[in-house]
Amino acid sequence: MGLVYLLCLGDTHYCGWAKNYNHLRRRLAAHAAGHGSAHTAHHVGLGKTITCVRLFRGTVDDEARLKKRGPKNFCPRCSPYRSVIRSVERASVDVASSGRAA
Ligand SMILES: [Zn+2]
Repeated sequence: MGLVYLLCLGDTHYCGWAKNYNHLRRRLAAHAAGHGSAHTAHHVGLGKTITCVRLFRGTVDDEARLKKRGPKNFCPRCSPYRSVIRSVERASVDVASSGRAA
């Protein structure tokens, strides 16, 4: 198990996997410096800002599934389902803070 992250670059998205938070920090720094992947390097070269918008616990298989389903669909900024994403995340926080989480 590791971390699946979703980067929003405005009109395009990238998802990746990191084995832990230290690895994630290095991966995000690499993306921001323009050498994390060919996709992000291209868009950083165009002057776009990279924002990490989602973080999930997951495996490389989860990362592959997210890529197959279209990363944009999971972006809280750009997804056509963004209002649903936000309400589910709010509900998750509410459950967690109320101590009723399983
Ligand atoms: Zn987005």
